[in-house]
Amino acid sequence: MNRPNDKSGTTRTDDGIRQVLLSTLRRNLALTCEVALAIAASVVLGLLPPIVLQQLVDGLTAALAGGPTPNVVGLATAYVALTLAGGGAQSVREAAITALGERVTHAMRTRMEAKLRRLPAQYFSRHGAGEVTSLFVADVNTLEDLFSSGVLSLVADACSLVGILWVVLAHCLGLGLVLLVALPAVFAFTRHVQRRTRQAQAARRAAVADANQAVPETMRCLRMIGLLGVQGHMLRRYDAIVERGFAAMEQSNFYDSVYSPVVITTGAAVTALSLDLATLGDPWASLFGMTAGTVVAMIQYVSQVFTPISDIGMEIQTIQSAGAGLDRIRRFLAEEELPAVPMAIMEPEGTAQPAGTKDVPALEVRDVSFAYEPGAPILAGANLTVVPGQVVTIEGRTGAGKSTLFGLVLGLFSPDAGSVRLLGQDPTALPPCARRRLMGYVPQSFFALDGTIAQNITLRDPTITDPQVARSLELVGLADAVAALPQGAQTPLDQASFSQGQLQLLSLARAVVCDPQVLLLDETTANLDSATEHAVMDALLAASHGRTVVSISHRTSGFLGGRQVMLADGHLEG
Ligand code: ATP
Ligand code: MG
Repeated sequence: MNRPNDKSGTTRTDDGIRQVLLSTLRRNLALTCEVALAIAASVVLGLLPPIVLQQLVDGLTAALAGGPTPNVVGLATAYVALTLAGGGAQSVREAAITALGERVTHAMRTRMEAKLRRLPAQYFSRHGAGEVTSLFVADVNTLEDLFSSGVLSLVADACSLVGILWVVLAHCLGLGLVLLVALPAVFAFTRHVQRRTRQAQAARRAAVADANQAVPETMRCLRMIGLLGVQGHMLRRYDAIVERGFAAMEQSNFYDSVYSPVVITTGAAVTALSLDLATLGDPWASLFGMTAGTVVAMIQYVSQVFTPISDIGMEIQTIQSAGAGLDRIRRFLAEEELPAVPMAIMEPEGTAQPAGTKDVPALEVRDVSFAYEPGAPILAGANLTVVPGQVVTIEGRTGAGKSTLFGLVLGLFSPDAGSVRLLGQDPTALPPCARRRLMGYVPQSFFALDGTIAQNITLRDPTITDPQVARSLELVGLADAVAALPQGAQTPLDQASFSQGQLQLLSLARAVVCDPQVLLLDETTANLDSATEHAVMDALLAASHGRTVVSISHRTSGFLGGRQVMLADGHLEG
């Protein structure tokens, strides 16, 4: 269910897990019916073989006492056939449950992937890459476990348990009553084990998430770690996470290993007690007395009744340990979304040409307030109007909110109050590809994609042609350097073989390849030496020609000239 968000025009999706489950079951109705039939068949067929065995043993005992000889071959064949059929039904049940579980997982991942593309930039600044990966991999696997090894198996085992109890009570009331006393005790023990195991599992999942976060972070900062000589610190930090995960896993394994032996021993004790009581006189004998065939059948039922109880224990454990993962998926699906915008590559109305832009400002920031965290405003009633073709340099101390202002202009965030208009358009309402055709953005540092140089410029937008890529490389002065590479622009980008300045020029080529009317430059030359800075500045001057340019830098002002605006205390002045 979507509802408008009062603050930023974003929307929220409620209870996505239930929706995904129900729609998957509906779409796979035949498989769902197969699961239901297989569960019913495995429960009924599981109850029949001990009854046949009882007939067989009782018939043979009667024959020994001089009675008629039973149809041994027929009964034995029926016993084997029913046991086989029960096993077959169980296999079909497991296969069908697993297949249905995988469909649910697939539907959930598809839903989450679509959700990920609708999330605002704030989500990614709050959640690291490792955390998101863990959500998609570990937590969704948990959902599959919950579905196949949890809920459905729990239903099947509960049916088996009720069926066995019913048959035992009908054949030997005393044994049935002992079981009714023993089963709640076993269940209470199961609950105790579950609680402890759940705590251990939660600790283990937290450690796995931390490890998933720590490894890519370390890989990203490898050079810096070597430079600062903090390898020991990083190792100790990682060791601590691994130790934490290991200790939690040990605890969980301990409960796992203790649980089954206790349950199996209880089953043996119940059988022994019933047989003992049957040897006493009345009233015990009338309660526990059984024929030889019934004894054989009851021993089978008792061994069977503790299997579903122990399985139910494990299944409840699976369900409980899935709780944390499910909560994370639920929270993810309920995250605020960007308002729906068409993803198609298109020119938004009224922005294809700068026609009429003499009247419409290139950029208009009106009374904009914005805070990442409530109570800590970065912008407070900021105003700025940039007319088409103007060059504006924004200055301000570090942390003043300059890059944040660009985030708002780029449509990555929505203002808490006020409005941002780019050539009269709300940037958050623009399709991502249309946004690129309106404004080019050169961030503070270059972000490389896995791919060729051309793909790093087009960002895999198939509508951008090779001649456009060549023109952008020419414009930023990289054409000769790229032509000298073995496959030209089709050479895979190897960051190590590009200087910082060249990477910055590549970033500029990426920004101007769609020939945007507005260029946003964020400290483009901040990390460059003065010679490289001159090369980049030349490229900037060439790229700025005929465009509206908003730049963040003290130094570009000297080269690009234009109007200077000061950002201080959340206000823009100048
Ligand atoms: P610099 O000149 O150092 O690049 P800046 O003026 O560009 O600084 P911003 O990056 O806009 O500053 O940051 C402004 C403030 O907002 C800083 O205090 C920063 O810590 C905070 N900030 C920036 N990004 C986020 C974020 N994603 N979540 C929370 N706070 C943020
Ligand atoms: Mg900045």
